[in-house]
Amino acid sequence: MSFFSYKKPYLEDGKKVLEVNILPEKHCNFDCIFCPLGRSEQKGEAPARVDGYEEALSDLENRLSSTGADLVFINSSGEALLHEKIDHLIDFIQSKGTSVRLLTNGYLLGKRIHQQTANKCQEVLGEMKVVTNETFHKVQRPPQDYSLDTYIANMAAFNRQFSGTFMLEITLLKGYNDDDASVDKLKEVIQVIRPHKLLIQRMDEPPFVKKLGISDQRYQEICLILEEAMACKESLPKDVDQTKSGTAI
Ligand code: SF4
Repeated sequence: MSFFSYKKPYLEDGKKVLEVNILPEKHCNFDCIFCPLGRSEQKGEAPARVDGYEEALSDLENRLSSTGADLVFINSSGEALLHEKIDHLIDFIQSKGTSVRLLTNGYLLGKRIHQQTANKCQEVLGEMKVVTNETFHKVQRPPQDYSLDTYIANMAAFNRQFSGTFMLEITLLKGYNDDDASVDKLKEVIQVIRPHKLLIQRMDEPPFVKKLGISDQRYQEICLILEEAMACKESLPKDVDQTKSGTAI
């Protein structure tokens, strides 16, 4: 039996999307307090070793054929870039004529080896949540020596050299990034990273929605402000984000 798990295929902008989780259990380099998957028992950058990959690949091949998917969205239980076979998997999907979208929390985009893997994809979706270094460490719990500025700079540097579509997903969290000063900071982040597309989410799942969910009205207000920042970013000179350099290593 395959350890990949799937969502029901769906249509997005006329494309048939097959969404897959390629990790059998949570494996992430962050340990967010609001993670729907629970605590990160194996936090770190060690590759996620998996058994049964060949069977999972065979099942995926059948699904690609039966669904006629245009795009496979790799959206995993943790950081998909840490899957030990991620390079092979992307190559395999593309060899079937199917595009790949990869969700990453963005941390590893500063490392050359992972940058090269992400570069193979047609679409990369990075994530952004809190806007101060203090809260970054308090609620997302990245490695100790990793700062929020480096996180943002790494995504910006990745996007500068990426030939595909870089999408940025911002999740609004009550008390962490929904006040005016934080929204201003999010606008700056958009100017620095310069994503091709912006997705604005809010915490809407129990049990976290009670503490971190924001009102419909505030959500709409912030969406308008950030969408405006996206429109402004289109008119900025191309080198506006060169003031911070990423750390591809
Ligand atoms: S980055 Fe995502 S998967 Fe990793 S701990 Fe945070 S919420 Fe969970």
